[in-house]
Amino acid sequence: MPEPLTSSGPAETRARPFPWFCPKCRRQEVRRETIPYQCQRLHDGRQIAVDLASFSVPRCGHCGELVFDYEAEEQLKQASVKKAIAMDSNVLEKVSKDFEQQEVP
Ligand SMILES: [Zn+2]
Repeated sequence: MPEPLTSSGPAETRARPFPWFCPKCRRQEVRRETIPYQCQRLHDGRQIAVDLASFSVPRCGHCGELVFDYEAEEQLKQASVKKAIAMDSNVLEKVSKDFEQQEVP
């Protein structure tokens, strides 16, 4: 029996439907959320402090574990490239100050 092709839903078959199982606590409570997020990324051999006001990432509602998917990685990649370019544009006046301010653990 042929399936009717009148489905009104979006044709998204690539992504797994939420909720996912959490790799940490094993509960099926991972859903995509939009959260503020900061992290350090290595870009072009430099540490970039990435700061996202609205980062869309799957997160466990139980333990808070972030589950990075392709979309999340892309956001981080783009943010670090943007930051690197911004750093380059004022690197000449800032670089010496930044080195002085860095604390050695
Ligand atoms: Zn969890």
